[in-house]
Amino acid sequence: MSETPEKHGFQAEVRELLQLMIHSLYSHREIFLRELISNASDANDKLRFNALATPSLLEDDAELKIWIDYDADKKTLSIRDNGIGMDREDAIAHLGTIAKSGTAEFFKKLSGDQQKDSQLIGQFGVGFYSSFIVADEVEVFSRKAGDATSAGVRWASKADGEFTIENTERAERGTTVILHLKDDAKEFADGWRLRSLVRRYSDHIAFPVLMRKEGEANLDFESVNQAKALWTRARTEIQDEEYREFYQHIAHDFVDPLAWSHNRVEGKREYTSLLYVPSRAPFDLYQREASRGLKLYVRRVFIMDDAEQFLPMYLRFIRGVLDSNDLPLNVSRELLQTDSEVEAMRSALTRRTLDLLAKMAKDEVEKYATFWKEFGPVLKEGVGEDPTNRERILSLLRVASTHEEGDEPKVSLADYVGRMQSGQEKIYYLIADSITAARGSPYLEQLRNKGIEVLLLADRVDEWMMGHVREFEGKSFKDVARGDLELGALETAEDKAAAEQAVKGSKKLLKRIKDTLGDRVDEVKVSVRLTDTPACLVLSEGDLGAQMRRILEATGQAAPPSKPSLEVNVAHPLLKRIDETEGEAEFNDLCLLVYDQAKLAESGSVSDPGEFLRRLNRLLSSVMP
Ligand code: ADP
Ligand code: MG
Repeated sequence: MSETPEKHGFQAEVRELLQLMIHSLYSHREIFLRELISNASDANDKLRFNALATPSLLEDDAELKIWIDYDADKKTLSIRDNGIGMDREDAIAHLGTIAKSGTAEFFKKLSGDQQKDSQLIGQFGVGFYSSFIVADEVEVFSRKAGDATSAGVRWASKADGEFTIENTERAERGTTVILHLKDDAKEFADGWRLRSLVRRYSDHIAFPVLMRKEGEANLDFESVNQAKALWTRARTEIQDEEYREFYQHIAHDFVDPLAWSHNRVEGKREYTSLLYVPSRAPFDLYQREASRGLKLYVRRVFIMDDAEQFLPMYLRFIRGVLDSNDLPLNVSRELLQTDSEVEAMRSALTRRTLDLLAKMAKDEVEKYATFWKEFGPVLKEGVGEDPTNRERILSLLRVASTHEEGDEPKVSLADYVGRMQSGQEKIYYLIADSITAARGSPYLEQLRNKGIEVLLLADRVDEWMMGHVREFEGKSFKDVARGDLELGALETAEDKAAAEQAVKGSKKLLKRIKDTLGDRVDEVKVSVRLTDTPACLVLSEGDLGAQMRRILEATGQAAPPSKPSLEVNVAHPLLKRIDETEGEAEFNDLCLLVYDQAKLAESGSVSDPGEFLRRLNRLLSSVMP
């Protein structure tokens, strides 16, 4: 059976990935071996799973294994499995394209800067194509499980934009990947080096990884790994290093995880879980269709990747394995959605994850800061989505504050409550576009004056999140840019007297301003918030804030109108001046300028910038000599 090999072009994304990999992924070259062993292990897993329904797929070769062999003279390295295998169509489809969701977005993120991009590629999970980091030519021989008499297929490429495909006589079930190593990668055609890599990266693979015994022309193979799924071993027997390597294997990450939790549950429901908190966010954390969830096994048999039903959306960054003793082997995604057992496991795993985070927050403050930086905004989604665990999630929040320097969110709600002033009943917070903007906000003036701590929030989810919280440890929350300031006992008798006095003395002024501003504002009031700024806009409690408004508008939804009140600082010289202004036109200009300033401070823009500037210039010219 001879034919001319058929030529195929790689998908554009694959071409790009290959280029990047060949040119920029120097620092972790050995990951190619982990990826290929991982594919071999996946292929064996798939065969074992399919053989549950169709035992004949195992033919007469039921012991699933992985073989690694090399030839130092020829500079070749081969990785073989006797798993599910590929036919011609499979090879063309799987070894010529990238099927991952979000691939297109991923490529948009690449900057062309090799340093940065190689980091990103690591997060993307390079898979089979990582062969080309060390090889200038790769051959794949494969034969699909099921029909021992069918021909095999040979796939080959030199990473030059194309691959070839042809049928072959060679027909062992499974797949053999042969790497023709580059000159600078011949170190990998070395028994000692390979053994140490296998032990380091693939010890926990559930199948034996076999290598030729050392010694000249030795034909005997021996197992070089433990070949026992890591999570089935006792916790006390597993080294931290092994946990870390297993994480790298399942997460295709080459950075260590921050923390993990390994548990066996016995009794009515029996399962083992191994959950990891990664140390950096994947590129597609905010893409709805991104894959998430745990690797699901039933009684050690691999069932599926990305089983999403075992953790809520807001814990989508968790990686790990779940091995159930009770679920049926033929469990499907549909079944997972409706099974009440799954629901119960989901609550338990959610709790376990939140406990793990709480422990990290308590014992490893620096690690937790890293976690918070990468995943804090995602965890915040849980405040809205998971009422049962709301208090628990709230205690995991870290927030910037007027009582801490810098943009780093460091303060927990417990810290805040612990140092509230005597007589203070509310947890005060302010939402702005950035922490810097929040710090400079006029809404803080009076509170700063009184030394009252205010939490500063600037994540996109914050307004939405705060819409779902009522209280923490019995203390209710208060947005300092809305409604009355509600200082309660923090307001002294003098404060009260001064406020009353101010209100009494400004009735006429307030009415004049309101008449001028008309429908732009709901009310004009004397402010207790301000000390240095002439005026600010204040929404009422139920109104949509600037952040939610922007989110709605960005998604094309109509945001209901909200009409703020204008609070004026009657002690401010500008207000005094306005009060003394007789001329209608000038009064108008001054009022609208004060209003626009307040609008700027609140939302970062004015509704009619042209008009605003003309007004400002009229005034400037009038004061110039
Ligand atoms: P991933 O493993 O994340 O799917 P890879 O790039 O590692 O991505 O592999 C791409 C695909 O090629 C796999 O999903 C699988 O379908 C196929 N494949 C790779 N290696 C093997 C193998 N040893 N046996 C069978 N199929 C394989
Ligand atoms: Mg893979």
